[in-house]
Amino acid sequence: MKITDIQTTVVKVPVSIKIGAMPRFAATGTFVTIRTDEGIDGTALTHFSFSDIALATYVESALKPVLLGQDPFLVEAISKTIYNYTNRIMFGIPQATSVVEVALWDIIGKSLHKPIHKLLGGHKEKVPAYASFLFWMLPMQLANTTKVAMDQGFKAVKIRIGKSLKEDEECIKAVRGVSPDLRIMVDANSAYDNVKDALKLADICSKYDVEWLEEPLPSDNIDSLSELRSRSCVPIVGGENDFGVYRFREILEKKVYDIIQPDVTRSGGYIAVRKIGGMAESIGVKCVPHIFGFGLIAAANLQMIGALSNCEWMESPFFPREFYLTKQLMTPDREGFVEIPQEPGLGIELDWKAVNKYKIR
Ligand SMILES: [Mg+2]
Repeated sequence: MKITDIQTTVVKVPVSIKIGAMPRFAATGTFVTIRTDEGIDGTALTHFSFSDIALATYVESALKPVLLGQDPFLVEAISKTIYNYTNRIMFGIPQATSVVEVALWDIIGKSLHKPIHKLLGGHKEKVPAYASFLFWMLPMQLANTTKVAMDQGFKAVKIRIGKSLKEDEECIKAVRGVSPDLRIMVDANSAYDNVKDALKLADICSKYDVEWLEEPLPSDNIDSLSELRSRSCVPIVGGENDFGVYRFREILEKKVYDIIQPDVTRSGGYIAVRKIGGMAESIGVKCVPHIFGFGLIAAANLQMIGALSNCEWMESPFFPREFYLTKQLMTPDREGFVEIPQEPGLGIELDWKAVNKYKIR
């Protein structure tokens, strides 16, 4: 089998997002489709990006010449070649190189008529999901949205915080008020800037029986995160903004997180996250892939989750399902579990009609 073409499709849906330390940003993504001489195509999707046009141009001008003529089954060799081409500087554009790897696995799975998790060494057929809210909300809105999520089957929610200790406590309190049994995660998206405040935040989380505190400090500040983790009474988690095996080795060696969150669409693809997950497993750290964005990102990471023995959760972006842009919606059952798709490759079909509706390039 040989790769014959690579195409990109950029979409933007009418949703903007405001969380943590980040300015408001648009919900966008780039689909990367790899075609082969055997008529089997693989498609994967990038995470929201600051510039999808730059990303799509990078795929078509820099990565396409490397990929043409290659055998998609030599996926590790292709990844190494790209890594070396980019002077090992975080894979050039990590999101672009990661989704190329994911698209290759989509081809491999379709070619072998198996879902990717079974080719990586299957571990589970379903996983508990938590509804991951996309926006900052006021306490009352948060409580109402939590009720909507629970009506849909979710037994756990993740809320966005990071305004101030006082406002954050009001948000957490409002959600805890909805149900004493609800599992609650909180994500500050790097909003706080010092260990002292982050420790006060951890104490607030403990008071309301919060499951984990995610990215309370800038994700690059791993020494401060490590100090925080050693003193915090709630688990500290993160890793969505970290890329590749060397970075995660450093994170694990410095005991930065109780749970790491590499994302296959950002952190190098399946083989990289398999290795990262294995390193974490060897020292008793959980590996719960990050998921944020349209449906194909959830599909890609859900296949990884299906193969990881140290992953106990799926992050389910609480997005209007019409913006999933996929035919299957990966919704939870009444027990709060989402099934790992069993169809070949990513196991989820893209809704090209919806994709074309929001296509901007
Ligand atoms: Mg997060």
